[in-house]
Amino acid sequence: MSATSNPSGGRPYLAIPGPSVIPDPVLQAMHRPSPNIYAGELLTLTDSLVPDLKALAGTSHFVAIYIANGHGAWEAALMNTLKPGDRVLVPASGRFAISWSEMAKALGIEVELIDFGTASAWDLTLVAERLAADEAHEIKAVLGVHVDTSSSIRNDFPALRAVMDAAGHPALLMADCIASLGCDRFEMDAWGVDVMVAACQKGLMTPAGVSFVFFNDRAAAARARLPRISLYWDWSPRANPQEFYQYFGGTAPTHHLYGLRAALDLIHGEGLQQVWDRHARLARAVWAACEAWGQIETPEQGLRMNVSDPGLRSHAVTALHLPTPRASDLRQWLEQNLGLTLGIGLGLAPPDSPEWHGHFRLGHMGHVNGQMIMGLLGGIETGLQALEIPHGSGALSAAAQALAGEQ
Ligand SMILES: *Cc1c(COP(=O)(O)O)cnc(C)c1O
Repeated sequence: MSATSNPSGGRPYLAIPGPSVIPDPVLQAMHRPSPNIYAGELLTLTDSLVPDLKALAGTSHFVAIYIANGHGAWEAALMNTLKPGDRVLVPASGRFAISWSEMAKALGIEVELIDFGTASAWDLTLVAERLAADEAHEIKAVLGVHVDTSSSIRNDFPALRAVMDAAGHPALLMADCIASLGCDRFEMDAWGVDVMVAACQKGLMTPAGVSFVFFNDRAAAARARLPRISLYWDWSPRANPQEFYQYFGGTAPTHHLYGLRAALDLIHGEGLQQVWDRHARLARAVWAACEAWGQIETPEQGLRMNVSDPGLRSHAVTALHLPTPRASDLRQWLEQNLGLTLGIGLGLAPPDSPEWHGHFRLGHMGHVNGQMIMGLLGGIETGLQALEIPHGSGALSAAAQALAGEQ
């Protein structure tokens, strides 16, 4: 296919790790005139979102909704639990953990970062040592990212909770599930997570602009101890509204709420376990193809997954390497020729460095199924061939086997 043939005659495919593909029922639900924000359908609809969001998060406690992207939820979670001078511990497996910690620093919070690099999960023995050494309990919270979207590492929250319990440490456990909620299994209450942040544009399949902070009674008690709190970011009225406007501290994000209602109907209609299983199966198909592509005589010239241990890989996003600058070449070729957009690499090299062009990511979160994943993988196979990037054979057949095979 020549670069001049136009791929945009068909439906383009945005396979980046957020925003994710928006389902037609979500788009259709949003295509309407503005509803009344003082009475009627919107009020009942908003009330109905709350139990479904909590079920998704695996919590019976509280949720505050913000008209904000994930960064807003990050800030809200910090604002409601910590004050300047408090100390937090941040075990990091990629750029997003570091960014959350930078936000904490900017709020005057003392940050202790344990950086495990961009291809490793948390080493909890180091976390355990640090918590044990903190006899005065100066660490007020441990901030962790469940799936770090930059590295595609998935971290183990139950194990982190076990380490905190074993140390008898009272710090709050705070989780960023922005990339994982609705994709990878997460059970807030069962896993002993006190605060969890999420946003609507990844596993929740809704245009960016609404985010969530889930919190339990321990976190609410920490909020109650704060000397002052921004009226806007305060999660208390949002989570316990006496009047409808308190949900959002102002005008409701009307159309997002309709979209979210449709998205939650899709998720709970399919069943949360089924949604997790689907993501796991689709991820295995992606990994099988990537492994096959990487089987060449000189592997350093070929494609490689960032995370080598499948047990540590996210089911929502896959970070990949190609020799510089072939990742950028591939992304550009696929977008121009096939209408297929892959994610840029993030946090694995500085954006102005040549190495930056050796990383890319696939989003397989939310509204994705087997034929889309086969289209994504078939597209990549086509690009690798067209650009003569060395790659092993049998990738599509390996992916087909992972899709069609037994669990
Ligand atoms: C996308 C993402 C964020 C940032 O969310 P924004 O909506 O872009 O602010 C934070 N953490 C993780 C893990 C993410 O995937």
